[in-house]
Amino acid sequence: MAKTFTLEIITPYRVFFSDKAENLIINSSDGELGLLPGHEPIVTPVGIGIAKILVDGEWKIASFSDGFLEMEGNKATVLVGAAEWPEEIDVERAERSLKRATERLSDTSMPWEKRRATLALHRAQARIKAASLAKANKA
Ligand code: ATP
Repeated sequence: MAKTFTLEIITPYRVFFSDKAENLIINSSDGELGLLPGHEPIVTPVGIGIAKILVDGEWKIASFSDGFLEMEGNKATVLVGAAEWPEEIDVERAERSLKRATERLSDTSMPWEKRRATLALHRAQARIKAASLAKANKA
């Protein structure tokens, strides 16, 4: 059995990751999904949150927006709206985004606006969490 699989993580802005990986832990529609080499073919929605990627025995963390994951033939492709490494995250921007989303949620009764604000809130929370986890790991 192969020890690694090919992992491509693509956003509309860039190829975020393209390399061999040993494990990927990500939010799927069924909760947390751990993807190992040789995983059976799968297509699943990806939820906003923190993803962890094991590369050369070292866990990397990233914040993810929502999207899709496909695994087939020992290659996983993840298409997400945005992804950031912790060092790329502007925490003040995420805090402003969190505040805006919280205000919008309390101001609106329109379901589609609530849905958009909830997604924005979750993206901001994921970014803040990824940045603080990385900081704690370094300390
Ligand atoms: P904002 O309201 O701050 O723009 P957003 O959740 O609407 O946040 P996205 O649409 O998910 O932003 O992302 C747009 C682009 O901005 C992507 O390239 C994403 O990686 C980047 N981005 C968003 N928020 C941050 C942040 N706090 N720090 C660094 N990059 C960010």
